[in-house]
Amino acid sequence: MTLPVDRESAVARVEALRAELEHHNRMYYALDAPEISDAAYDALSRELRELEASWPDLVDDDSPTQKVGQTSSAQFASVAHAVRMYSLDNAMDQDELDAWLARVRDAVGDRSCEFVCELKIDGSSLALTYENGALLRAATRGDGRTGENITANASVVRDVPTQLHNPELGSVEVRGEIYMPKASFARLNAEQEAVGAQPFANPRNAAAGSVRQKDPKITASRDLATFMYAIAEPRALGLGRQSDVLAWLRSAGFHVNPDVITCSDESGVREFCARAIERRESLPYEIDGVVVKLDSLALQDELGYTSKAPRWAIAFKFPPEEKTTVLREIRIQVGRTGALTPLAEFDPVTVAGSTIARATLHNEDEIHRKDVRVGDTIIVRKAGDVIPEVLGAILSLRPADAQLWRMPIECPSCGEPVWREDGEVAMRCVNAACPAQRLERLVHWAGRGSLDIDGMGYEIIARLVDQGELHDVSDFYSLGEAALATLDMGRMKQDGAPVVLGGV
Ligand code: AMP
Ligand code: ZN
Repeated sequence: MTLPVDRESAVARVEALRAELEHHNRMYYALDAPEISDAAYDALSRELRELEASWPDLVDDDSPTQKVGQTSSAQFASVAHAVRMYSLDNAMDQDELDAWLARVRDAVGDRSCEFVCELKIDGSSLALTYENGALLRAATRGDGRTGENITANASVVRDVPTQLHNPELGSVEVRGEIYMPKASFARLNAEQEAVGAQPFANPRNAAAGSVRQKDPKITASRDLATFMYAIAEPRALGLGRQSDVLAWLRSAGFHVNPDVITCSDESGVREFCARAIERRESLPYEIDGVVVKLDSLALQDELGYTSKAPRWAIAFKFPPEEKTTVLREIRIQVGRTGALTPLAEFDPVTVAGSTIARATLHNEDEIHRKDVRVGDTIIVRKAGDVIPEVLGAILSLRPADAQLWRMPIECPSCGEPVWREDGEVAMRCVNAACPAQRLERLVHWAGRGSLDIDGMGYEIIARLVDQGELHDVSDFYSLGEAALATLDMGRMKQDGAPVVLGGV
């Protein structure tokens, strides 16, 4: 996304982004009812961080970028965390992961250092305190210093032991994630819909909503599960490594995710992260990344914490399938049959590993239904190798002068009036001689499924048409060498082979 260059627009954008993020924080943390995806939220949050980095005097302690989560709602008693619950810094791609690994390596120097890679479970943080082996209290993370007391609810979750296997210990606080398996989530949403209740946006919100019920019976009916991965004060138990913490948790009777590795170098970390992306779909619960932690607790202490997160851990986030960007133009494409299709042209963004800058908006009705206007901050999506899509606009970030978009009444290619036939959504140019239509027809004929002329793509055909060598399909058969010789054929195909027309 292109950042504003002048201070005035930077101030305006920072304020708009803060208000927007505060709103989504409330929807997410207090009401468990998010309106936008995590990826879209992350994109807005990142834009704000970048703006604050370029205009440091605009940084404010109250900014959503400086806070962890949200303070607790009045519905539950509050719990002061004796040991603060931190958030995690994110590595949004391989480069950011490498930068973190390099910083850690710098700090560690020649000493050996192991990393523990764990899956980042997409649930809700949970802190469980045991006194002499008996469950005393359960709390949410809240803002990291104060959480909510959810003991009544957590104690009905099957995975949460009320009694530890090794009860000789005094007080111990363990931490982890409470989540809803994918299958349970699907079942719950089907039930919600059957009774006309609002379905949950995702398993994480379903989990967060389920542990924050007034009635523990509802929590009990929700099929929640846990993976625990931390101890607030592991030294008190004589533990020196994260891998020992996990082993202790397992032996005490907690559910610990088995999908964990300890590796002695950076390449192992990179490989685990890359493989996790591929395994994501097939896991029975949602993950949104990998958490990489320094194994040695002594080294963890040395690296310490920033105001929000440990320096000794990083959350490697999967490539988001949604991003935000700015819609610059809605351009009309005239198709082979004369149908006019509006095309969104936006600031290039990398989504799911590839850069996209345009997406079809289908037709005018669709644009109005999605309520997108030129100048809007829009949410775009590309899942895997699926075609890019505009999901909608963030209305509070809409420029005051953004205009409702209207389909032109004339064809942008030939200038003839366009028509909408009865019962059709598409507007059409019905001029048989329309240059745009002719070009599309020629491209279609030369392409796969028709003549299949190797190398005869859009660009070459457009040039032959411009040069007057190509008027209609029959011209393909009589194209002489002279016509082709005038084209610059020095280009290579993507695989490096020279372009050969007609296979000769
Ligand atoms: P975020 O919510 O993006 O700030 O990420 C931090 C949160 O990730 C923590 O508060 C935990 O609730 C959650 N999390 C999920 N899995 C893990 C894990 N294996 N290790 C540490 N944190 C985790
Ligand atoms: Zn036309």
